[in-house]
Amino acid sequence: MILGIDIGGTKCAAVLGTSEGEVLERRAMPTEADAGWRDIVDRLLQMARDVGGGRELTGVGISCGGPLDTTRGVVMSPPNLPGWDAVPIRSEFERAFPGVRVELENDANATALAEWRWGAGRGTRHMAFLTMGTGIGGGLILDGRLYRGANDLAGEVGHQTILPEGPLCGCGKRGCLEALASGPSIGRLARDSVMYGRGRRVLELAGGKVADITARQVIEAAREGDAFGLGILEEAGTYMGIGLANLIQIINPERIVLGTIAVHAGDLILEPIRRTVAERAWARAVERCTIVPAELGDRAQDLAALALMA
Ligand SMILES: [Zn+2]
Repeated sequence: MILGIDIGGTKCAAVLGTSEGEVLERRAMPTEADAGWRDIVDRLLQMARDVGGGRELTGVGISCGGPLDTTRGVVMSPPNLPGWDAVPIRSEFERAFPGVRVELENDANATALAEWRWGAGRGTRHMAFLTMGTGIGGGLILDGRLYRGANDLAGEVGHQTILPEGPLCGCGKRGCLEALASGPSIGRLARDSVMYGRGRRVLELAGGKVADITARQVIEAAREGDAFGLGILEEAGTYMGIGLANLIQIINPERIVLGTIAVHAGDLILEPIRRTVAERAWARAVERCTIVPAELGDRAQDLAALALMA
């Protein structure tokens, strides 16, 4: 039995599961991020005891948004958890579950492990996972194990420069892949273009308000065959393809697994991604690498926490 803890900015969950990725029990709670870390951690520990207390646990896996220090088991000021400055989350759980091994990992790395064990990355030894949702987080499985780098920053594929003078990224740098191909960036690409009188269908789906256009309406319009929506996905897919071509040249993966946007838009974005990758990376590396949508869907976060100990 493994206890998996998922800590997010809006909700937290505790799941009891097996090393085969079977979830036996699950509880969730709203994070109420403004309550402060001590209050959140106390409620989290209580929920964890409710789910995992009295069970024979082989480990506790904690998945949380970065940045973190996995060596010390400390959460370092993630943007979605205000006030979490150097929170020793691992020792909190070690005290609550004496004698049980506890591991802390950032959510993108943990999800990479879950997709690799039980999802779209099954059976590979060299795999990259990119989230492609609110941001573009990443995790690398190299030679059959998670690669963390010198201080837990490996796999930050979303913050490679694609356009030197491009839009400002949430990280403070310019022209990052995340600023060009994440969910919010796709919404922004559409809003910027609608300004010039194009994209009537997308605007209509957003209730006529430019400010309400998100990736959701872009994908919906593209599914209907709308040329504007398809064009936006083509543009974002091209940026993503450049980023993945760079990644392929560096790590020569067998598989790249893409989250949220790729799952919802499917071939509408995968096709421009694959085409750009084929144009830019070396043919022998491209031929060896499949680029596929993630498979775990709604279960990804629960399984991510379990995957740390599986
Ligand atoms: Zn960035």
